[in-house]
Amino acid sequence: MFKSAYLKLTIYYVAIIMLLSVVFSVAIYQISSNEINRGLGRGMRSFGELPQQGFSGPPPNQNIQNIIKAQLQESQAKLKNELVYLNILILIISSLGSYFLAKKTLKPVKEMVESQNRFTADASHELKTPLAAMRTEIEVCLRDKKFDFNNAKKLLDSNLEEITKLELLSNTLLNLARYQEQVKLDFSEISLEEIIVEAFEKVENKAKNKQIVFKNKLKNILINSNRQSLVELFVILIDNAIKYSPKNSEININISEEKNKAKVSIKDHGVGIKASDLPYIFNRFYRADQSRNKEKVDGYGLGLSIAKEIVGLHNGEIKVASMIGKGSKFSVIFRK
Ligand code: ADP
Repeated sequence: MFKSAYLKLTIYYVAIIMLLSVVFSVAIYQISSNEINRGLGRGMRSFGELPQQGFSGPPPNQNIQNIIKAQLQESQAKLKNELVYLNILILIISSLGSYFLAKKTLKPVKEMVESQNRFTADASHELKTPLAAMRTEIEVCLRDKKFDFNNAKKLLDSNLEEITKLELLSNTLLNLARYQEQVKLDFSEISLEEIIVEAFEKVENKAKNKQIVFKNKLKNILINSNRQSLVELFVILIDNAIKYSPKNSEININISEEKNKAKVSIKDHGVGIKASDLPYIFNRFYRADQSRNKEKVDGYGLGLSIAKEIVGLHNGEIKVASMIGKGSKFSVIFRK
């Protein structure tokens, strides 16, 4: 698909360059011919003023006129040849250059299409998994001759679990799409401390279930932001810190300010992230190797991509520092 686009764009580039080159060549040819003509004309006039005595045959200025005409034609032919060679050279160089430029121009589009295709494939895969599980369970139950009320209840429970997963996935995908569309959010001056407290309340139970202790240093700093999306951002980060931490561990949330920046950091003492995974964790559907986790951690690998989009909408920056087995620290920096 992209090969034909490269060729088409190359042809457009070359056509524009060659059109300009031919127009300039014709103009150069005309101007140079006129100049040569005028120069030779002046020469001819001065020859015409010479005395013409002692010659037989055609008058000498007639001969000179012929010579000058021949010279003019020769110069014009030479100029034409040189311009033709020059245009061929421009055609070759511009074709190579244009192909290179076309590839460069289309590179971001190609990357976007590839990423979109990858996303569609990943999303379809994630949607297919719970659907396939539901289908298998229903088929097994339908074949079971002793299928009774209890079995039906179990089946419905299991189906409901898969439906909840599908619902979560579709909501997450919708959320991601909404932020990627660069929606216009309502901004106002909001306290970062309030946001953190609100986000924490939403995941507090999960932390309690794992007996995780929070030791925070919060500060009342106001930033121009969108409340709902910021709460969502910190729910993602705090929820991840809880998910990837062992029981009875500690999480620290700090709010600090320096010059015109406000910084929120969330530090856990959990499994950590491999250095080779770090560049990819913000990619959609990317999940680092889960084998280090004792228990299976649920997730689709979409949380951090949503977090990155929200930070982007606030012109902020998100950074991560992590050491395997020691823990991770996610920092979000906002301009005040
Ligand atoms: P999810 O948590 O649903 O898998 P995310 O996009 O939130 O998706 O995170 C992507 C990946 O980054 C996770 O699968 C996990 O491997 C890694 N990760 C994110 N946060 C942490 C953390 N606090 N500690 C360790 N690993 C993390």
